[in-house]
Amino acid sequence: MYSSNIIYPVALIGTTTQACNLLYPLCEDLKGILYMPEQLSLIDERTCHYKDPLKDHLTDIFPKNRALIFCLSAGAVIRLITPLLRNKAYDPSIIVVDPKGRFVISLCGGHQGRANKLTQLIASYLNAEPVITGVSNTLDLPGIDILGLPFGWRKGPGKWKDISYAIACQKTVQIIQEGGSSFWKKNFLNSDNFNFYSSNTIKAHTSASAASIIISPKKYHLDQKSNISTIQWHPRVLWVGVGCTRGASYKLISDAISKVFNRYNLALESIAGIASVDLKKDEVGIVKYCQLKQLPLFTYPVKTLNKVNVPNPSAIVKQELGTASVAEASAIYSSNYFFDNKTVLLVSKEIIKFNNHAVTIAIAQSDIEYTGRQGKLYLVGIGPGSLEQITPAAKKAITEADAIVGYSLYLELIKTLLHPGQIIEDLPITEEEQRAEKAIKLAQWGLNVVVISSGDCGIYAMGGLVLEKLENTHKKDNIIDIKIFPGITALQAAAARVGTPLMHDFCAISLSDLLTPWNVIKKRLEAAAQGDFVTAIYNPKSKTRIHQIIAAQTIFLKYRNPHTPVALVRCAYRKNETIILTTLDEMLEYYIDMLTTVLIGSDSTFFYKDLIITPRGYHHSKIQK
Ligand code: SAH
Repeated sequence: MYSSNIIYPVALIGTTTQACNLLYPLCEDLKGILYMPEQLSLIDERTCHYKDPLKDHLTDIFPKNRALIFCLSAGAVIRLITPLLRNKAYDPSIIVVDPKGRFVISLCGGHQGRANKLTQLIASYLNAEPVITGVSNTLDLPGIDILGLPFGWRKGPGKWKDISYAIACQKTVQIIQEGGSSFWKKNFLNSDNFNFYSSNTIKAHTSASAASIIISPKKYHLDQKSNISTIQWHPRVLWVGVGCTRGASYKLISDAISKVFNRYNLALESIAGIASVDLKKDEVGIVKYCQLKQLPLFTYPVKTLNKVNVPNPSAIVKQELGTASVAEASAIYSSNYFFDNKTVLLVSKEIIKFNNHAVTIAIAQSDIEYTGRQGKLYLVGIGPGSLEQITPAAKKAITEADAIVGYSLYLELIKTLLHPGQIIEDLPITEEEQRAEKAIKLAQWGLNVVVISSGDCGIYAMGGLVLEKLENTHKKDNIIDIKIFPGITALQAAAARVGTPLMHDFCAISLSDLLTPWNVIKKRLEAAAQGDFVTAIYNPKSKTRIHQIIAAQTIFLKYRNPHTPVALVRCAYRKNETIILTTLDEMLEYYIDMLTTVLIGSDSTFFYKDLIITPRGYHHSKIQK
């Protein structure tokens, strides 16, 4: 099954102490073994000696690993691996890290071996520059041979190498899609070399294209002599409803399905799953078919199937089972189960008779493919701005994600971590609810989804919204992993730029009254001021919301010295950062907006040169009340 995570097992190879020191920290996350020469001392069970010459050792580990990461000169690596390379479908990914850890080079196995993704991941661990030379990457396109993997598409026949070559030469390529989602499309829209068609019309085939990519549940018989190189991707959009007499063998079921698929020119690779009535849960032929073809079997109670509208109900079946349809009803029901999407009954029921058995087949096509994957939903805080302030765990989650959902400004901040082929959903800041719903839907569908927020994702951010929505969502059972990745929040970032103002008790208050009534905010301002908390004010002032910060100052002035230090930190750790140190009575003379965090000191906070300091303990207080 496709997983966008690291491919295992992974071997790391260092020949010097410096190289091993650089690679060793990667072992844990990559679940890899670090191989080192015998003269170096082992560190723990994740390290292993190799017997010189390295060439012989590589012959042994090359076929056993899915990725080899070298810290060695690229030239030496090329000489070592050349005799071992066989076929890009089987060879492990080869990655080279330069001994100073400045560059991570994806040498071999870019797409299928997914070296490119691993390269980006390692580069983000080491804070190094990823070097990816694959043509599709330089054209900012996902590899055509991995295009459909996240969505569970299966590969059909075709001249795969020729297509990649045509794309690399920037020839005109037509893409014909007759089923499945079109998330992949965004990547190709910026290039003039691609023409899109929604069905495989004659016009499309005779157009001036050098190559053709067909995304369809149909099977096209490719003309091997044609000048147009063609490949086929098969999205899993076909739900096959099956009914049969008790004891029908695997062969009968398989023959019946193949027969109907051939008759309608459909690709078996496009089968999403098999559907039937509960009674058939243990029907040997059906169960074996699903096992051998690695397909899910969904069966439903009679009363569920009875409610489905079908074109060919049968009075006899109704009398026997209590539902007038098994094949048609279960195919239609299945294709609607995961999403309330559009479905067409592509093939009405066909009865295939064998000597003393009969198999009934119906096929429904849904407009959203079955990915066959289970989703992950990660809520990731990206810190205040610069990539240096983002945690390695957050970077890793972003690099590994199939889909990233966030506000466009934040996506811009992390754009160097993104790669072609990832689904980017950049909804405007006002559409936070839609963003949350979208993220949940994509995860339910089976993708690894990252929702990004600036700062910390659980502080005035998307995290809470997503989890709230998730609580009210049905069908969340396909999401197997929900994780929260913390980030440096604005109050920490702002504080770090001006000294140590948060050294003692502090609190955060948002002045945004969009989601919180102003009365509640006022009460909290009053309590914070009275309680002598250092206070970080988030969302202090927008174009239309200008009175709240004035009210906040008035409240603080009631309880606190007018000369209390105040910092106005705007766009901390971003290119346009500005920092103003002022006092409580003068703070409103300066520019404050929605990109500013206001830090108001406590009674003991003081200025030292251009720093704001809150002492560690009360007894050192400079300002006595
Ligand atoms: N989740 C974010 C907060 C979002 S609310 C976090 O944890 O930081 C938005 C408010 O955060 C802004 O109005 C501003 O007050 C503050 N903020 C966010 N990023 C900031 C930055 N880089 N510099 C200063 N303030 C920032």
